[in-house]
Amino acid sequence: MKKGIAASKGYAIGNVVLKVKEEEIIVERKIDNLDSEKERLQKALTTSRDQLERIKDKAEAEMGADKAAVFESHMMLLDDPEFVGAIESGVEANMINAEKVLKDVVDMYVSIFDSMEDEYMKERAADVKDVGNRILNNLLGKSMNDIGELKNNTVIVAHDLTPSDTAELDKSKVIAFLTNIGGRTSHSAIMARTLEIPAIVGMGDITDTVKNGDFIIVDGIEGIVIINPTEEQINEYNLRKVEFEAEKEELKKLANVETKTKAGRRIEVVGNIGKPEDVHKVLENGGEGVGLFRTEFLYMDRETMPTEEEQFEAYKYAAEKLDGKPLVIRTLDIGGDKKLPYLPMPEEMNPFLGYRAIRLCLDQVDLFKIQLRALLRASAFGNLKIMFPMISSVQEFLEAKKILAECMGELKAQGKAFNESLETGIMIEIPSAAVMADELAKHVDFFSIGTNDLIQYTLAADRMNEKVSYLYDPMHPAVLRLIKMTIDAAHKEGKWCGMCGEMAGDETAVPTLLEYGLDEFSMSASSILRAKQIIINS
Ligand code: PEP
Ligand code: MG
Repeated sequence: MKKGIAASKGYAIGNVVLKVKEEEIIVERKIDNLDSEKERLQKALTTSRDQLERIKDKAEAEMGADKAAVFESHMMLLDDPEFVGAIESGVEANMINAEKVLKDVVDMYVSIFDSMEDEYMKERAADVKDVGNRILNNLLGKSMNDIGELKNNTVIVAHDLTPSDTAELDKSKVIAFLTNIGGRTSHSAIMARTLEIPAIVGMGDITDTVKNGDFIIVDGIEGIVIINPTEEQINEYNLRKVEFEAEKEELKKLANVETKTKAGRRIEVVGNIGKPEDVHKVLENGGEGVGLFRTEFLYMDRETMPTEEEQFEAYKYAAEKLDGKPLVIRTLDIGGDKKLPYLPMPEEMNPFLGYRAIRLCLDQVDLFKIQLRALLRASAFGNLKIMFPMISSVQEFLEAKKILAECMGELKAQGKAFNESLETGIMIEIPSAAVMADELAKHVDFFSIGTNDLIQYTLAADRMNEKVSYLYDPMHPAVLRLIKMTIDAAHKEGKWCGMCGEMAGDETAVPTLLEYGLDEFSMSASSILRAKQIIINS
């Protein structure tokens, strides 16, 4: 059994597919058992030989002996005492993992062959690389980047998943995922909750503990993985799964109930989305609008920046589907753990404290304006509000508003419709903004507290780092004080205050937030019904 940080609720029973990146595989690792490392290497060599034998026979039958000869030379390399000896002695001399030594030996052979004049010898470099990759895959019992055709009931196991990796998961096949690193508010964990698939993060070395094809149980509630479970455990978890689903069904009765406390205070329970189509999940789960549209996901998984037209269509779609319900759209929050392949970003020591979100947008005004124009145009089709992320001072908000006003002027000149009185607000996710909330409240229409970042900045505890997750405490008195200050400051100016960090959907935090007077709770679709239930019963 292995334990990690429960990141997305639910149970899954299925088979492991390891998703391992080459650079993650070939890190140097100290070993303490030389014999077992040598045995691992021998096993990988034998498997590689068997595979090549089969491939050679097939090639001979289908393409003739001359075409099959290349595999013969690959097999010869596997039996070459110098090649294999170099790997073995490297492992022994340095007491490190075979993968790392294999890579070094292959690199050395490749550079020797590459430097030769003779074309035939140059070609040998490719053969060595090919054989090296084969041994590496067998050494790890893992596929490399390519996870290929997935079977049903797949549990993805990875060192880490980027937000875009997670967004790409095929939900018809992938029933859960596990990662070595990460915390509850890493974007991969947030995505898992949106996808409503169980996930456990911060598992330490799960990629070394399981193999491809292992049969496992994932308990996304307790954060536990059971590898090769007994019949009894499988039955027990099948039962838990049925109960969990039944409970979810029962909660669905609240979907169309307006959220009010027992005392009659109206509270808005809304959803966080990453793509326009996610509004359906929010509505199905009883969401009363959207409190956070993370627009950066529109910018991911593509080669070029989305155009104004593409963005307009996406925002308009969400606005129309929400049919008058509030839709808070956050402007581009790129940087931190979210990168774009086509937008060069500087290498930074502390990307979460660096060039990201509003800082980047205020610096790259052309890029910002494309999004603002699209947002304004979409505001003609629903109850759309614009929210700026990572605001740390009044000055930044005023600058953003100034650019927004320029966009309004441009659209007016072009005769394009937009809602002239649309609300603009900010995320309170930097401690300086929470401390200065009384000043900021005079300028904005609303606040939304981004606790995912606010907690990490207040407590100096990286939200992605499982090693400090014990410090990352939403209920820390310092965090609670900042939250209370922010809500009070908004109310003093007659403005509303929401929360779109994961804390808003945390069942243990909801009663406290209600008591503080929070007006709007925005969360992953999968958390909405339970939050509604707590509020209705309060
Ligand atoms: C937050 O920081 O709380 C938040 C909602 O934004 P993100 O998780 O996208 O940083
Ligand atoms: Mg944030």
